[in-house]
Amino acid sequence: MPTDRSDSHLRIVWVYPDLLSTYGDRGNLLILARRAQARGIDVETIPIAYDEPIPRGGDIYLVGGGEDRPQTLAAARMRADGGLTAAVSQGAAVLAVCAGIQLIGEYFHIEDKQIAGAGLLDLRSDRGDSRAVGELVGEVDPRLGLPLLTGFENHGGRCHLGPAANPLAKVLVGVGNDGATEGAWAGKVVGTYLHGPALSRNPALADLVLSWALDVPLSAMPPIDDTWPERLRAERLAAVMPR
Ligand code: GLN
Repeated sequence: MPTDRSDSHLRIVWVYPDLLSTYGDRGNLLILARRAQARGIDVETIPIAYDEPIPRGGDIYLVGGGEDRPQTLAAARMRADGGLTAAVSQGAAVLAVCAGIQLIGEYFHIEDKQIAGAGLLDLRSDRGDSRAVGELVGEVDPRLGLPLLTGFENHGGRCHLGPAANPLAKVLVGVGNDGATEGAWAGKVVGTYLHGPALSRNPALADLVLSWALDVPLSAMPPIDDTWPERLRAERLAAVMPR
């Protein structure tokens, strides 16, 4: 089990795929690994089942989407384990998707229960009046240097950010956190309501997470051939953006 971040290869820890990969979340793991390998970086991918300890020595942690019950189980286990919090305090990067963003906040609501999250982002989740399902487009916080965020959302919860969390994007299409902002970031931790394999339409977000893990500026990531993701982005954005 890896415990040390000093080795030269990149360690990507996939947290609880047995609970939190309902929506093809493996795609984000594959995309991060592939984009690192394309830059000549050796990658170790480390799936951690929910009855295993979360290793402290990862460089990137992925927390995926899930239905309410698995999400509740994951929260209790993640808090008791403490590995993710320890890794972040040692400088690891985190990408949390959908249930993941709720899980790494302070708390979320499932039915009438308030459930404590990992507390890695200053946000709290409650339930919306209706489920948010459909395309989501956001204009990303200019400090991050990313193009429009595009993806699909499917969630009942809504996130409310405290002052220590920055919105990831301003909503142009869809709902996101609350109809106005989408996702959150602070330090090297980012969460989004983009569902499932969100990085397939957002290769620049993948590169941002890689740049955090490698401790280099995003602009230092060598370009790679993004013909296919760019076509997918263009096709989806053209379909949903107001003219
Ligand atoms: N269970 C959460 C919600 O409905 C997250 C759903 C998801 O991961 N797609 O808000």
